[in-house]
Amino acid sequence: MSPDWAVFAAPTCTTCKGSGLLISSPDSPCGCSLRRIARIVHRRYRQEVAGRFRRNGRTFAADVEISARRTLTDPLAYHIFAMHVIEGLDSVAICARLGLVKYEYFNRWYSVESRLGHAYATSAPYSLLPREYMGLTIYPMLPCRPPQPGPRFTPVRPPLRPVALPAPAMAPEAVPMVLEPVVIDPRKFAKLALKNGKSLRSIVTELNAIAPGSGPWRQSQVKRLLLAA
Ligand SMILES: [Zn+2]
Repeated sequence: MSPDWAVFAAPTCTTCKGSGLLISSPDSPCGCSLRRIARIVHRRYRQEVAGRFRRNGRTFAADVEISARRTLTDPLAYHIFAMHVIEGLDSVAICARLGLVKYEYFNRWYSVESRLGHAYATSAPYSLLPREYMGLTIYPMLPCRPPQPGPRFTPVRPPLRPVALPAPAMAPEAVPMVLEPVVIDPRKFAKLALKNGKSLRSIVTELNAIAPGSGPWRQSQVKRLLLAA
């Protein structure tokens, strides 16, 4: 697809009067438009090669070189392109190397620029105009294996037997204290009870209740205990 040549035309051009198309042949783009396109592409090429931009830069530079090689089939034209654009030499150096006079060099260079401008602008499937080329949408690569659908059936999950959980570890402070059995001294008990005003009979009853192992206690035994103290 051809671009809008008028966008790139020189307003003061006498050949197209700024329309980008030759007045003598309205279907043909004007050289001013073609050379402007070539200059835009070559400026961007130098910036990409210098590493100033990143996105698509390497492929852009490679596409420019391939396009030039295909378009400039005559060796001298391609040499001029290579020295001017790829090597970045100025007109003096190129004239010296190729043995051309300045007028002859510029004649050839304008022709090279026009042919390249046309090739860059009409390149398929997209032009090498930086704004169009760099604006290409880069789609993410699709994975080779398409995503698999989910399971068709719900898996059968049998009920599980309840398992008794282990008892929580007992905290050290919760461990019950083991109490030593209280050994009652019958003589001391009887003496204390008598001191508290208890009768001999009630002392015997209590002794039989709290210390039956030594009994059964009788009043005479308790009396003997108290007298012995
Ligand atoms: Zn023109």
